[in-house]
Amino acid sequence: MKIEVPTGYNDKKLTDWLNEMTPYIKQISAVAPYMKFELEANFHNIDGSEGSQTCYDCEGSGEEYIEETNEYDDCSTCNGYGTLDAFEELKTRIESNLPDSVLDNITFMKAYYDSSVNCELTFTIKTTALAQVVDVIKAFTDCADGYDTNNAGFHIAVLTDKNGKYPCDTLLDENKLENFKYNVTKILPAILYASANHGTTRSLYYRQLQISEQKYSAIHIIRGGFEYRVFEPCLDNPEKVFDYIKVIANTLKYYSKRKISDKLAYTLELPGRLADTDYTKTSIKSIFQDINNLTILRKTMPYVDKDLPIKITLSDKQLAKIQHKQYIKAVAKYQAHLQDIQDSIRARIKRDYLDYLEYQRQSDRLRDLTKITAQEYVDIQNNKKYKPESLLTTDTVDKKDLYNRVAEYHRNRVREYHIDEFMRSTSKIEFKIEGRV
Ligand SMILES: [Zn+2]
Repeated sequence: MKIEVPTGYNDKKLTDWLNEMTPYIKQISAVAPYMKFELEANFHNIDGSEGSQTCYDCEGSGEEYIEETNEYDDCSTCNGYGTLDAFEELKTRIESNLPDSVLDNITFMKAYYDSSVNCELTFTIKTTALAQVVDVIKAFTDCADGYDTNNAGFHIAVLTDKNGKYPCDTLLDENKLENFKYNVTKILPAILYASANHGTTRSLYYRQLQISEQKYSAIHIIRGGFEYRVFEPCLDNPEKVFDYIKVIANTLKYYSKRKISDKLAYTLELPGRLADTDYTKTSIKSIFQDINNLTILRKTMPYVDKDLPIKITLSDKQLAKIQHKQYIKAVAKYQAHLQDIQDSIRARIKRDYLDYLEYQRQSDRLRDLTKITAQEYVDIQNNKKYKPESLLTTDTVDKKDLYNRVAEYHRNRVREYHIDEFMRSTSKIEFKIEGRV
């Protein structure tokens, strides 16, 4: 197997590169002889969905000066339109930027408008020529007169068809697929970490942490292959692709009939916030400075890329501190919530009690009780100033009994849960903080 090497590497660097990358490229080649890349970006020189750009020859005038006749004629580059089909033009320019040694390994290439960004380049390349993807990325961004990757994806598909056809007629092997899904699902958080570029990661909406036939999955099962949608665009840092290649190789080895008895017996609980649908960029660090997420990351990273350092410099102690602060905040919020419940119940009791007093006054049935004002009643509930016994000479009542009598009187209006809620809200609230910080 001949592995194409990256351009611009000196002998020393090349040897290192070959030593490092060859096993991964072989691993992928064994499953998928071709790979399909989708590069997305917003090119500032492309005019939205029209996909037109100002003609670079006549700068939009549509005319060119002909020396022989000393006259102006239609620009021959844009035929007088002043604009060019941006995507035809883009493809032509990319191809002219690439040597034949690269183009020979590319079986398909198309540039077009994509709804999430204004420019997408899709191409299929021989797996053994993966290194040349770096050249294609550079040729692509060289055509941009400034670009950004807001909303952009960076998708890499492995194609099992021997000619790189996509979509292809050969379906994936069910047993192998099951093994792949079973194992790789467990390491998705570490894959997410390895997929970040410069520590940033976008919304997970278009690449939810799952492996499925649904398009918006971190790993999307396609006809005759897998589309890795999890990767962060790295157009500014093309050699990051080699890290992605490792992730693909290390996950593809689970596409195997052999049931891998792995050490991944890890119950994975994806924290809710990983499933956000926010479009803004997020720091990968902020996701993993959660002690639970970090623990998962540390345990599963070796299965994804054993050489990639986990650049989260917070110590366990610092992490515990962050957790502790978050916990204290949550407790305070919960206590405030309980206070609100208690306040509203007190207000309700007061109202009920005033009704009760009126009833008693009219029926003259319980004189002693009528001595209590509504405020005193609330104070009794709070166990502040009065003991019920000091006010109620006819009966010995405790505050619960008193409340029950009010409630009984208002049986039609006071529902059972009033009592439950009241008792719950007045019972002492205790929070146990686990561990020491
Ligand atoms: Zn022109």
